[in-house]
Amino acid sequence: MGNDTKNIILTGDRPTGRLHLGHYVGSLKRRVELQNSGEYDDIYILIADDQALTDNADNPGKIRDNIVNVVLDYLSAGLDPNKITICVQSALPALHALTFYYMNLVTTARLSRNPTVKAEIQMRGFADEGLPAGFFAYPVSQAADITAFKANVVPVGEDQLPMLEQTREIVEKFNRIYGKTLVLPKAMIPENETQRRLPGVDGKAKMSKSLGNCIYLSDSAKTVKKQVNGKMFTDPTHLRIEDPGHIEGNVVFTYLDAFCNDRHFADYLPAYANLQEMKDHYCRGGLGDGVCKKFLIQVLEETLEPIRAERAKWENHIDDVYDILRDGTLRAREVTNETLSEVQQAMRIDYFNNRNIIKEWEKIIKEQHI
Ligand code: ATP
Ligand code: MG
Repeated sequence: MGNDTKNIILTGDRPTGRLHLGHYVGSLKRRVELQNSGEYDDIYILIADDQALTDNADNPGKIRDNIVNVVLDYLSAGLDPNKITICVQSALPALHALTFYYMNLVTTARLSRNPTVKAEIQMRGFADEGLPAGFFAYPVSQAADITAFKANVVPVGEDQLPMLEQTREIVEKFNRIYGKTLVLPKAMIPENETQRRLPGVDGKAKMSKSLGNCIYLSDSAKTVKKQVNGKMFTDPTHLRIEDPGHIEGNVVFTYLDAFCNDRHFADYLPAYANLQEMKDHYCRGGLGDGVCKKFLIQVLEETLEPIRAERAKWENHIDDVYDILRDGTLRAREVTNETLSEVQQAMRIDYFNNRNIIKEWEKIIKEQHI
């Protein structure tokens, strides 16, 4: 029981759309590095379709359609099904059972305090329309996901920190009441501050599928160009090239913070040795937004072009994509069922694993007659 020796990762995404640059810097890029590091015994990537239904109950078709998009994005970004397991949440019944038990270990007051859920409730208009109970409680189902795989490391963006905190509280409470059974996980967030929460092209707090402010990993070069040149928020006070510019809140520079390195300058913009020099010039005045955007597009294309090419290959083999997902899900089903058995045993609700309880019941009945 437990997992004191193994290094196991669980992370995942909601299949509410194609994956975007925020996913890439916040989690996906790190997953590929961890996969290739050889330091982990198991890496599980969960496509959280049940969680996606908590705020899309009226549109299950959207979730069904996007499962394939998310797997295609994984494979094209470099996740290798020979090294990791990709699986679908709804096909893992142990997760549902665990969620149900963990619900008893949290209070509604505690769930109400989750800042990410609070912000999402506002964003989705649930404050006015009424809040689905499933959405309110989705952090509990995330605790089920993480613990079912016995994950000790969870690589995520910053918005997920409250979920990890909630999971740790559930694990501690469970282990206190029922005996040490669950593994206490920790979050792994990007070191680069901008990568922890990449803003949208419109400058809004977070690039998010639900906000429509994304550059998708599968966008064509033409679309990327259009998003950067046409939509990206810069400095509204920087009207003429000579005017002094501002970096703060200027999305072009935020993205450069997240994506560019000194080598990019040598290759595409040798007038500067590094980003600081470029920023200094922009702030002094004399550097136009057009030059900055052109450079950003070149930098982004270095990440996006290989992903796009890889996706084009996989798109012709959807049957292989299906098999990868099915095989991964069957493997994940075994692992999560095993954890559920351990949990039920710890909770003493494992009535039908063996016939031992018959002896206990017989004893009780006998004593009742004394
Ligand atoms: P939705 O709007 O449906 O919630 P989303 O764009 O927020 O979609 P999720 O599937 O909820 O994407 O998030 C998956 C993972 O990607 C999480 O680990 C999350 O922290 C990370 N992530 C999502 N958006 C960003 C972002 N803008 N910057 C950094 N990480 C992000
Ligand atoms: Mg989200």
